Amino acid sequence: MAGARFVSRLTALNPDIRITVLDGELRPAYNRTLLTGVLAGHHRPEDIALPLPPGVDLRAGVRVVAVHRATRTVVDSTGAEHTYDTLVLATGSRPHHPWPHTRPASGGHHLHTLADCRHLTAACADARTSVVIGGGLLGVETALALAARTLPVTLVHRGPHLLHRRLDPKAGALLRRVLEDAGVTVRTGTPASGSADGPGGPGVLLGNGDVVSADLVVVTGGTRPRVGLARAAGLPVRAGVVVDDTLASVGDPDVYALGDCAEHRGVVHDTAVPAWQQAEVLAARLSGHDRHARFTGARTLTRLITKEVDLAVFGEATTGIGAGARDGARTDVLSVSDDRRRVYKKIVTRRDRVVGGILLGDLSTVDTVRRAYEATEPLPPGRLHLVSTLGGDG
Ligand SMILES: Cc1cc2nc3c(=O)[nH]c(=O)nc-3n(C[C@H](O)[C@H](O)[C@H](O)COP(=O)(O)OP(=O)(O)OC[C@H]3O[C@@H](n4cnc5c(N)ncnc54)[C@H](O)[C@@H]3O)c2cc1C
Repeated sequence: MAGARFVSRLTALNPDIRITVLDGELRPAYNRTLLTGVLAGHHRPEDIALPLPPGVDLRAGVRVVAVHRATRTVVDSTGAEHTYDTLVLATGSRPHHPWPHTRPASGGHHLHTLADCRHLTAACADARTSVVIGGGLLGVETALALAARTLPVTLVHRGPHLLHRRLDPKAGALLRRVLEDAGVTVRTGTPASGSADGPGGPGVLLGNGDVVSADLVVVTGGTRPRVGLARAAGLPVRAGVVVDDTLASVGDPDVYALGDCAEHRGVVHDTAVPAWQQAEVLAARLSGHDRHARFTGARTLTRLITKEVDLAVFGEATTGIGAGARDGARTDVLSVSDDRRRVYKKIVTRRDRVVGGILLGDLSTVDTVRRAYEATEPLPPGRLHLVSTLGGDG
């Protein structure tokens, strides 16, 4: 996704630059965030394609297998060599299996590519029961997608509540009820530890000894940056390819990294908006449109948008009222909820600035909240406009 956005912007700003795109996937760029919508049957695969401008030399289904920085060449999986003046790595991430030492659960699938989505869709046709392992954003979206296909689904999450690293217990509980309303069975507080045969056939063994029957299992254990190429090329890599504010590798000014594979100021952004922002910055620099463009970090809202629920979460969303910051500043929390409508809004402030929040079930104030989160100015005294369009006190 970052690569596609970068190429589109670069050719728009400077059509004279020759670009070769080597993409390991057979199908050219698409909006990966909409894959669960394809699985649910809400979109067709062709609906999620991203535009690639004409004139770009696209080699789909061709992987880069080596980067030789001394000769400025890359070698692809067909054995062909390509020379470069500038190399941009946008290799993304790979699904992580959180239980490498256990037997993989029977029928285990990931959902990371359109090819995965196709396999999973085919497997749904023969399945009678399914389990999704992992109650993060992708696990929640995947469980809702399987339920939309009317396949019985259990979501298993080791944390105390869904999205426990991002949401507080109240939001986690409401989100659980949204899933239950959609027909998803939710099991939290116990990990999945491997595959097992239960009374009803194959299943997933939980940490508490229970077996949940499933002839289809989807593992959503997070992702890890795809950094093998960069590491083998001798570029500095920690969790991701280490880049500076120009998005250049700190070990080679002719190699850049964008998106899920890049580590900037110690952070690997594994969501779409920062990847797009990085693509815009790099296109501006390399096209000559703005040679001083820099990426200084992203304060973005993470969104979950499904037919069943809208959710936006950002910053210090799990912090409670009165919590102290390192500098001794007091934290304030503004929250409203309507359990029956599955709505919860929480805004966390410190020193008159929005530092985090949750909007669940009602995103009517999301633009106001985003502006406040990005703002450098202190908030006005009234805060209700952040949680209600009727607030009118801002
Ligand atoms: C199912 C799913 C749902 C998601 N939903 C959301 C969401 O709702 N909101 C959100 O913000 N984010 C979401 N994300 C995350 C988001 O998709 C990523 O942050 C984004 O795709 C990152 O873009 P990228 O270009 O860095 O990586 P990718 O989009 O993964 O692209 C990397 C590309 O590089 C190719 N590649 C890798 N190695 C090589 C090689 N050696 N040679 C050639 N090509 C190679 C890969 O085949 C791939 O095509 C979701 C991710 C998934 C999998």
